[in-house]
Amino acid sequence: MQGPHSKIDLHCHSRASDGQLTPAEVVARAAANGVRVLALTDHDTLAGVAEAAAEADRRGMHLVPAVECSCAWQGRELHIVGLGVNPAAAGLQAQLWQARDARWRRMRRIADKLEARRINEVFDKVCAAVGDGMPTRAHVARVLHAAGHVQSVQQAFDRYLGRGKPAWTRVEWPTMEDCVAAIRDAGGQAVLAHPLAYGMTGAWLRRTLAAFRDAGGEAVEVVCGSSDKQAVLTATGQALRAGLKGSVGSDFHSPENPWIELGRLRSLPPAVPPVWQDWPLPLE
Ligand code: MN
Ligand code: MN
Ligand code: MN
Repeated sequence: MQGPHSKIDLHCHSRASDGQLTPAEVVARAAANGVRVLALTDHDTLAGVAEAAAEADRRGMHLVPAVECSCAWQGRELHIVGLGVNPAAAGLQAQLWQARDARWRRMRRIADKLEARRINEVFDKVCAAVGDGMPTRAHVARVLHAAGHVQSVQQAFDRYLGRGKPAWTRVEWPTMEDCVAAIRDAGGQAVLAHPLAYGMTGAWLRRTLAAFRDAGGEAVEVVCGSSDKQAVLTATGQALRAGLKGSVGSDFHSPENPWIELGRLRSLPPAVPPVWQDWPLPLE
């Protein structure tokens, strides 16, 4: 693999949500890239964790049971990664069912809006593709692409699914405070994902991170798969100011996107305490 790389990658997706590989394939790809500690963080579901853990076991890797929760704070949607959660924890499961429910209701509304524009059968096709997984807008985008309504998955977001577009639908997510509490009650650490991806000003991000920390948040993703040097510096300053630890995660979804790859990550600056500092890890 070219470019910077890391033995630790704490953010990625499988087919259990909107990724394109099975959980076992994600683990195998991470192993091939030299990752030793991997967190599978599917959107609002832990359904892929057992398969990933079994594959990691076979390969002598460390799999961190984890999830990426969508939530709301001050009218904005935030993503919080829960690392090291107990998949059987009842409170977290209830929280995830609530999000699942919200996602299916959104899917119904999106399909209705598309039907009003004479794009039919979206709901049925998404159901078939999702199975017992988690329905995401990426599923709709792939359906629209496969049916020839758009020329690429990205175009589906630009034309129909993105904020302000004809099929854009707001979701009533659980609150940030409830999400953090559910992650902590499940024995996990809450990490604010991709802090620079929300389009916030620096001041808004400071406010967000302070509220996240006050709610019991532990760390922020200082290094993402898309981070350049400047992004790492900016996120480092924000983490230190908020008194949060740092995490690193590629947010890998699919081999089709060559820019985001498992383990292709800059290193966490030494000034930031790593979220894994107290974990019993097989590194070195
Ligand atoms: Mn995703
Ligand atoms: Mn995210
Ligand atoms: Mn993600």
